[in-house]
Amino acid sequence: MITEGSKSLFIRAQKTIPGGVNSPVRAFKSVGGSPIFISSGKGAWLEDTDGNKYIDFVNSWGPLLFGHAHPVVLDALRKQMENGLTFGAPTELEVLMAEAICRAYPSMQKVRLVSSGTEATMSAIRVARGYTGRPVIVKFEGCYHGHADCLLAKSGSGVTTLGLPDSAGVPPSMTADTLTLPYNDIPALQQLFRMRGSEVAAVIVEPVAGNMGCVPPAVGMLQELRLITAQYGSVLIFDEVMTGFRLARGGAQELYGVTPDMTTLGKVIGGGMPVGAYGGKEAIMQCVAPLGPVYQAGTLSGNPMAVCAGLATLGMIDRDPGVYQRLERKGQLIVNILSESAMAANVPITINRVGSMFTLFFSNEPVTDYFSAKKCDTGRFARWFNAMLNRGIYLPPSQFEAAFISDVIEDCHIASFQQASFEAMEEVIEGQ
Ligand code: PLP
Repeated sequence: MITEGSKSLFIRAQKTIPGGVNSPVRAFKSVGGSPIFISSGKGAWLEDTDGNKYIDFVNSWGPLLFGHAHPVVLDALRKQMENGLTFGAPTELEVLMAEAICRAYPSMQKVRLVSSGTEATMSAIRVARGYTGRPVIVKFEGCYHGHADCLLAKSGSGVTTLGLPDSAGVPPSMTADTLTLPYNDIPALQQLFRMRGSEVAAVIVEPVAGNMGCVPPAVGMLQELRLITAQYGSVLIFDEVMTGFRLARGGAQELYGVTPDMTTLGKVIGGGMPVGAYGGKEAIMQCVAPLGPVYQAGTLSGNPMAVCAGLATLGMIDRDPGVYQRLERKGQLIVNILSESAMAANVPITINRVGSMFTLFFSNEPVTDYFSAKKCDTGRFARWFNAMLNRGIYLPPSQFEAAFISDVIEDCHIASFQQASFEAMEEVIEGQ
């Protein structure tokens, strides 16, 4: 595979863009080599600047439930383009979007649109703190909620350990009120609440984690979160930026039957354009300006181009709710192929999958939290990733990310995936 065009663009990019990319994981650092530069996407396919084609299992990190450049989304964008790109004033589109979200997420009685998942979570935390008048937030190790200062903490062990920032430029004071817990550790959660429960404004959680690779909630974990936050008067925030409209129309909260107080959304609700949203119970959302004292605003919030792409996508889901059954079937096929290819090559693996989100971990132990995810053989992952890429399969370039299946993946793509998987798995162990 010739990738000279991508390589020379990467060299050029590094002169004017930090690390040559506008979001760190795109740099392929943990898998080695040089990132491929994309020139176009159509349906299930990506094409790079050298003309190589790849079947896409990243889908822009989740938003593209119906694949690239879907005609329904493009039509909506063309129509809106003729009517103007941005007004900084209310539009009917925003009302339609808010209504569509509240219909699918009964826990969201009111919703505010923003432009990214980071804005959504950052704002939800501010609202939860404003609503409760409490400072402390609780998050889980390995869960990523965007790059707001107070959420860039994973901390060490021990339930009362104060959060230490994960990033330079975040003063410890910004994360001093962020407590972190191991994912799926119910006793640790209970202990933290016994000690500090009355100070906790909010618990924020990825109800299915995707940012340490795909890690489902343990049986009873979400239910316990619901119980304990209600008992202590803390706000339970489900960060469904990744899972919202992806695992089910009503997200993980529909799938697991647990109702949070607040929800954050992003990715799919933008249909490939930058949209985020946060919302929740009426009483909580009453705190948001101009109704209440919690300030939050955005010049391009509810941008008509972005919102119309999202609405077109949500409309497709409404008209065709069978999409989630189809994705479930495709997900199962993919997992079967990965298991069989690993067994044939005698490579120990663990696969986690929920619906159309999955991760192949190079580990022979269950992956249930950040600690177990970190025990994986990332060298093997890098070899596997590159072997798949060379065979035209585009996967997330990190062991600690989820892959995403779109509805336009057909049996022919799965057959190509199968052939690539068996060959790639052999390469994983070659030379070891
Ligand atoms: N929350 C979750 C669960 C995410 O997966 C992400 C991004 O991947 C974010 C928040 C941040 O969203 P964005 O990258 O749009 O700021």
